[in-house]
Amino acid sequence: MINFEYARAGDVADAVRLIADNPAAKFVAGGTNLIDLMKMDVERPTKVIDINRLPLNKIESTPNGGLRIGALVRNTDLAYHPLIEQHYPVLASAIMAGASQQLRNVATTGGNLLQRTRCHYFYDTATPCNKREPGSGCSAIHGHNRMHAILGASEACIAVHPSDMCVALAILEATIHVTGATGDRVIAFADFHRLPGDTPQRDTNLTAGEIITAVQLPPQGFSKNYTYLKIRDRLSYAFALVSVAVGLELDGKTIKEARFALGGVAHKPWRDLHAEAALSGQRADEPTFAHAAEILLRHARGHEHNAFKIDLARRCIVRALTQAAHGTPQLQSSKKIM
Ligand SMILES: Cc1cc2nc3c(=O)[nH]c(=O)nc-3n(C[C@H](O)[C@H](O)[C@H](O)COP(=O)(O)OP(=O)(O)OC[C@H]3O[C@@H](n4cnc5c(N)ncnc54)[C@H](O)[C@@H]3O)c2cc1C
Ligand code: SF4
Repeated sequence: MINFEYARAGDVADAVRLIADNPAAKFVAGGTNLIDLMKMDVERPTKVIDINRLPLNKIESTPNGGLRIGALVRNTDLAYHPLIEQHYPVLASAIMAGASQQLRNVATTGGNLLQRTRCHYFYDTATPCNKREPGSGCSAIHGHNRMHAILGASEACIAVHPSDMCVALAILEATIHVTGATGDRVIAFADFHRLPGDTPQRDTNLTAGEIITAVQLPPQGFSKNYTYLKIRDRLSYAFALVSVAVGLELDGKTIKEARFALGGVAHKPWRDLHAEAALSGQRADEPTFAHAAEILLRHARGHEHNAFKIDLARRCIVRALTQAAHGTPQLQSSKKIM
């Protein structure tokens, strides 16, 4: 274990000041990702700034009919909040499909957004990895790449973003509210995570020293016709091979509006506005859904061990859209266990 200082921030301004003083410092919230990465010697902060006492743990209605979720709201509290269950059930389903109950009880909204890839080589400091050590190479491209990307990857990195929650936030078109030394700003969800390009060490467009204060949801929640489908190697406690979040607005059998995003396939939750446009005004049936899947996957490219994901993604998209159209979302566990 490396030596590091510990500081506790009293308010948001204090947190911003503490991190501005030390560019090698890191915020810690639930600690379920950061502490693992420190134990594995992947993250080496010289100072850890505990933000758990900041007043960012509320879920509040906004004047436009949406919701503001504080960055420190725990994943369990978010998934079981009555306003989320009623108006944004796709978000509740996605959160409940991730990790374990114990992890969800401590993991936070802000930490979930910033969790790092689960690529084995990223965690293994004995191997080259451009994300961990820029310029060292990518061990996954010709290595064990079963869990890796089929869309939006680069020669520098083929890792995927592991979050389930973020796939639902993508279709809900959430906004991320941040504060830094130069003030507050709002980032559209689609612009928050990055594709790897030639800078895979940067997962997001947060700038150094910024803290996430909240995630805001617009009023549109797709509470009637939605689904979150997650396919993984075992039923619980595993990251997605492919996941699909869907929200539909139907007029009888006709699709008025469709949004869908994929997890487990790219460096960020993957949405394709052309594929969504192909659903709009069409009959909600299998040929329509299969056509949209073809559009979304037109540039998909597999590697030695993950080419199966292309066909898996195609079938998942059709199944998830079918479930959502029938109003039969994927069932998740129904009991709250604290
Ligand atoms: C065994 C295991 C299985 C898992 N399975 C899944 C799964 O199936 N699906 C899934 O989606 N997730 C899964 N997870 C990941 C889990 O969801 C994340 O670890 C968790 O959401 C991270 O939240 P945290 O609050 O603990 O973050 P932390 O570990 O505290 O922080 C993570 C990062 O975010 C930064 N940070 C935290 N809060 C803020 C903020 N407000 N502003 C700026 N920076 C901040 C930290 O500096 C750090 O870099 C799993 C984790 C484990 C350990
Ligand atoms: S895929 Fe990305 S995270 Fe994995 S080894 Fe390659 S550069 Fe590192």
